[in-house]
Amino acid sequence: MLHKITLIRGDGSGPELIEQAKRAIDKAIEICGKGLEWEIFDAGADVVAKEGTPLPDYVIDSVKRNKVALKGPVTTPLGKGFRSVNVELRKKLDLYVSLRPCKYYKGIKTRISNPDNIDLVIIRENTEDLYAGIEFENGNADTMDLIKFIESKNKGKIRENSAIGLKTISKYASERITRYAFEYAKRTDRKSVTAVTKSNIMKFSDGLFMHTAEEISKNYPEIKFKHKLVDSLCMDLVTVPENYDVLVLPNLYGDIVSDLCAGLIGGLGVAPGANIGENCAVFEAVHGSAPEFKGKNVLNPASLILSGVLMLKYINENKAAEILENAVKKVFEDGRCVTFDIANEPAKAVGTKEMTDAIIEEM
Ligand code: NAD
Repeated sequence: MLHKITLIRGDGSGPELIEQAKRAIDKAIEICGKGLEWEIFDAGADVVAKEGTPLPDYVIDSVKRNKVALKGPVTTPLGKGFRSVNVELRKKLDLYVSLRPCKYYKGIKTRISNPDNIDLVIIRENTEDLYAGIEFENGNADTMDLIKFIESKNKGKIRENSAIGLKTISKYASERITRYAFEYAKRTDRKSVTAVTKSNIMKFSDGLFMHTAEEISKNYPEIKFKHKLVDSLCMDLVTVPENYDVLVLPNLYGDIVSDLCAGLIGGLGVAPGANIGENCAVFEAVHGSAPEFKGKNVLNPASLILSGVLMLKYINENKAAEILENAVKKVFEDGRCVTFDIANEPAKAVGTKEMTDAIIEEM
């Protein structure tokens, strides 16, 4: 069967990284005697002038049709401009799971002294929480009404010229993400699931997430359930990361903790990810569009290539996934053809294309 995949090139450094990832994935599939058909689109800042939106409907329709996409990073303007394409895509396709494996591969330079046993998986709720971006601007009439309403309910004093962001956590979303985490742990033979919140302070919102996770855990007695406060988790992650297996977190903590975990295993250049829903999935690196490196052929293609490995597993092309992951592993371990971020001698680092060439050669 020929798989059709939507390829979203992204902006900034996205297009040059995605081009290399596509080459490596195509090679792995070709070795297995198969092929992929790609539907290629742009999204992001470069598309706005022509289409009036950074995420045209035909891109969404293509993902709905093909059910699988590989996506390059997309820039989100800070504090103004268009809304995040990434958030929009996750919402429109109801991609409620952000899956981010965080595994250390031998040969990669990291500040952690004993990284060999780091092999954890972050499962981040992707649709709600503060990260949904439901906000009220300071000075706005609606915001002032909201402030009056909140104060009339004796919920505390809010300073007059405040902006407000809403943290919404639903029972529905907490149930489906924690169920996904336990099902994932069961399927992949993982031993524990840790729910991460700040429920000592946010007793209703994070409290709901924590209690729901506790309830769901009762259906999976074979998997150890733990709860951890997010601040204390951060401390543990940099001191005893090997104590963790599957982590399940509300959206914002998941976003922050995934970058921290990427730092443990060598940085954003080696951290893959996937956004998964009931009907489709979009695979992408944890990192952003790194616009300062655009066109320089220096960034690490491994995060997008390893996202491709996750994609190949998702479409049941397990042999191709294994061939590709093993080639990446060998290139890391060999250390001669890697980019500046993980090279032991940065002066001898190679470019994005040359590292991909080495991965392809290894296959
Ligand atoms: P970033 O992840 O783009 O880059 C931060 C730093 O990480 C870079 O300066 C670079 O040193 C390093 N880095 C990133 N990718 C790397 C790679 N492949 N190889 C080696 N080093 C790499 O984060 P940022 O600068 O905060 O964000 C830039 C833009 O990307 C913002 O507009 C942000 O909103 C957006 N963003 C998009 C996504 C996405 O599309 N999913 C995710 C995160 C950020």
